[in-house]
Amino acid sequence: MSDNTGWRASVLTLFPEMFPGPLGISLSGEALRRGDWTLDAYDIRNHGLGRHRSVDDTPAGGGPGMVLRADVLAAAIDAVCDASDSRPRLLMSPRGRPLTQARARALADGEGVVIVCGRFEGVDERVIGGRTLEEVSIGDYILSGGEIAAMVTLDACVRLLPGVMGHDESGTEESFETGLLEYPHYTRPREWEGRAIPDILLSGNHAAIARWRQEESLRLTRERRPDLLDRQRK
Ligand code: SAH
Repeated sequence: MSDNTGWRASVLTLFPEMFPGPLGISLSGEALRRGDWTLDAYDIRNHGLGRHRSVDDTPAGGGPGMVLRADVLAAAIDAVCDASDSRPRLLMSPRGRPLTQARARALADGEGVVIVCGRFEGVDERVIGGRTLEEVSIGDYILSGGEIAAMVTLDACVRLLPGVMGHDESGTEESFETGLLEYPHYTRPREWEGRAIPDILLSGNHAAIARWRQEESLRLTRERRPDLLDRQRK
């Protein structure tokens, strides 16, 4: 981190009351209260037009739904970050590049992030180029707004901030960090409803345990997400 102000997240939304929401609880909430990161939810409607503070209009060329206006959104973005603000500006969007653990780590390693939440049919295309927004998706399905996608993105980042997770190691062994899915976990009791913990995990043989876990990771990844293995070969 380049300064002492902590990791800064600014979210532009039509529903600021949704924040911090779940991010105010557990790990991310405790980190927020400690000042490891800050979150400000900025109401796009502050820059709405006219008596009704209108933020959207009908799509050029016709079709259903409404589109967030470029001028309104740009004014909100300019109010939140000026030219000296070097944080990446993300636009949550199903058309974006899918969020990955590597991207979350890169974001967490930076100064923070500015996230624009779309609503309705989306945003006027011109503001994406005009304010250099990077479209980021959280998966191949359509949400009704970008807020939950922003929370997903922030949660993935915040848990990686220094000091947020109890054991630093629990960050590096997890699914995706190694390019593989994680091995199975067990805890007491030793036997539950006729199902036993695999003997090897109780053997005390750490090398054998590490080998077993690696094999299980590979097996699960091959079974469930062969695409992850293909990606590694590239
Ligand atoms: N008409 C658009 C979908 C709009 S959904 C399309 O077909 O691509 C409304 C808003 O929800 C979007 O502007 C975006 O901010 C958010 N959103 C929906 N699905 C998302 C996803 N999978 N990832 C990230 N944001 C999403």
